[in-house]
Amino acid sequence: MKFDELKNREQKAIIPTYGRYPIALSHGKGSWVYDLEGKEYLDFLSGLAVCNLGHSHPRLVQAISDQAAKLIHTSNLYYTDNQVRLAERIAGLSFSGKTFFCNSGAEANEAAIKLARKRGNAKDKKKNKILSLKMSFHGRTVQTITLTGQPKLQEGFDPLPNNFFYVEPNNSSELEQAFDKDVCALFLEAVQGEAGVFPLDEDFVKKARELCDQYDALLIIDEVQTGVWRTGKFLGSQYFSILPDVFTLAKGLANGLPIGALHASEECMDVLGPKTHASTFGGNPLASRAALEVIDVMEEEIVPGMDKVLENLWNTMKELKQQFSIIQEIRGRGFMIALGLKQDAPKVLAAMHDNGLLGNAIGENTIRFLPPLIIGDHEIAAFKDKMTAVLNGF
Ligand SMILES: *Cc1c(COP(=O)(O)O)cnc(C)c1O
Repeated sequence: MKFDELKNREQKAIIPTYGRYPIALSHGKGSWVYDLEGKEYLDFLSGLAVCNLGHSHPRLVQAISDQAAKLIHTSNLYYTDNQVRLAERIAGLSFSGKTFFCNSGAEANEAAIKLARKRGNAKDKKKNKILSLKMSFHGRTVQTITLTGQPKLQEGFDPLPNNFFYVEPNNSSELEQAFDKDVCALFLEAVQGEAGVFPLDEDFVKKARELCDQYDALLIIDEVQTGVWRTGKFLGSQYFSILPDVFTLAKGLANGLPIGALHASEECMDVLGPKTHASTFGGNPLASRAALEVIDVMEEEIVPGMDKVLENLWNTMKELKQQFSIIQEIRGRGFMIALGLKQDAPKVLAAMHDNGLLGNAIGENTIRFLPPLIIGDHEIAAFKDKMTAVLNGF
């Protein structure tokens, strides 16, 4: 099907919730994807921090094919060995506790809200206040848009669930004022992703940990985007010298097979008891098998060389900033990088598309890159060439 025909048919068939870019992708290999006409793009967005191993990774293709031929789904009425093995791997990479599996980031955060409220309710009926940060992003269900501190995402969906409150990021005194004994949880992202890639300060996160301890509230870190080595460590919160009580994962966990996870520490891992929560698909044999392979490939093939790749990637960003005055700052951590521009982010993105480079624009001033974690010198050099060609036109 040609692009124009697809676009026409989509307008009649698909509910128009997305402002899509004018590209339809057909296939991919490694860090490269190809559109319906065969045009090649360097994928520096990875399906929004999902395809960390790039496209059609041979080990992942093999693992998914083997599992699909064996057993795709059973429901959670039965035991699933892949699911148990995956929960054990997640605990081994973070801290001891137990995991609940679902199918997306929003669902994982929904489960976290239920866990926090259940634990709070059991202590005191009034212990149900939930704190989150302004400019955060936690998902698109009714409850997770309420958790998300962006009024524009909540508009028109009244009445929203109550007792959610928002605090300015990196403002420790405002955070302290928001706390009282009725707070049951504080949600944070280690790096605010959708807002435009803004890392939290270590001092603020430490203060958050102290206040949660003082008021017996859960510190819940939304690692949906920052997790699975996106920031260079398994969890974005591993850059801080604290442990959360709960973290959630989704995007990169199974490289594109839908899966979400909530991991809870020993203190709260049994709060959601039998019949309190469930998911038909959650952690099914296929998605869990894919996630296990992602973790194996990462540990065996990617993590050992990652520091060197990150050094090259960040040096390249710095060189671009030095060369082009439209770039005012570089923000981010690991493979989560934003260029803060003076202006024209949508136009820069359109020129990137023309030059065969995928990224995304947030507002007028931010270009965001979430490259696959498999990139090497060749891809970084190609990225630099393409960005140089693009920015020469501004
Ligand atoms: C993408 C994202 C979500 C939502 O995940 P979905 O799978 O789209 O529901 C939640 N939190 C963060 C931090 C995200 O980046």
